[in-house]
Amino acid sequence: MDRRHFFQNSALVTTGALVGCATPGMAQQQPKTPFAVPAVYIPIVGSDEMFPVRRIYCIGRNYAAHAREMGSDPTREPPFFFQKPTDAIQYVAAGTVGQHPYPPLTKNYHYEAELVAVLGQGGRNIPVNKALDLVYGYTLGLDMTRRDLQRFMGDQKKPWEIGKSFDKSAPIGAVHKVAQTGHFTQGEIWLKVNGQTKQKANLNQMIWSVAEQIAQLSEAFELFPGDIIYSGTPENVGPVVRGDVIEMHIDGLPNLSVNIV
Ligand code: MN
Repeated sequence: MDRRHFFQNSALVTTGALVGCATPGMAQQQPKTPFAVPAVYIPIVGSDEMFPVRRIYCIGRNYAAHAREMGSDPTREPPFFFQKPTDAIQYVAAGTVGQHPYPPLTKNYHYEAELVAVLGQGGRNIPVNKALDLVYGYTLGLDMTRRDLQRFMGDQKKPWEIGKSFDKSAPIGAVHKVAQTGHFTQGEIWLKVNGQTKQKANLNQMIWSVAEQIAQLSEAFELFPGDIIYSGTPENVGPVVRGDVIEMHIDGLPNLSVNIV
């Protein structure tokens, strides 16, 4: 190997260029860039690997009582989805309290406790009875919401992205492999603020199950490994202010805690 060839190969290896994927599923050389943009990863429990996050999908109004408190009729509405940017992820390790910044522009900042399914496989038009085969694991997360901005934009029939898809709006715990936890179709989900119970429900009260969510999403979007799905929140969402501590729980997962700063 001549000297020039050696350096080209070393550069590829040391920058990890061969794994850069502009198009999912197609490994290609990463172009030279003027600065680095970090990828987003979530630790995987019991593994030295990290889960790479491709897209964050969220389902709206997936518990009947929450749909009613948001002013809609859950019996007549098909599921709808929105996205958060990948870098909205704020990873919080079990047994720690994440420092979560109160965001700008809002005076009504809400918690939403949610089960999160993470995908290890993708596809289009996935039937419900095959959908859980795509699930790599589960975790729990907060779909933090600037409720006043969400409502203001919704009332004007404008996109309510500014209410949902802002920096650090997705606190999340580590990924637990489905082989270790099984699928989450029932079990208690609760959220406390400063030790006082605010949300309390059962995962079996979801209007659309995780399998149905994956099937529905895959009709609208081609799904890929690394996609994650926030599966909706139960009733009794509400506000937090600086100094509050949120603790959330799902049976079978370690609790997730953040301090609003
Ligand atoms: Mn939500």
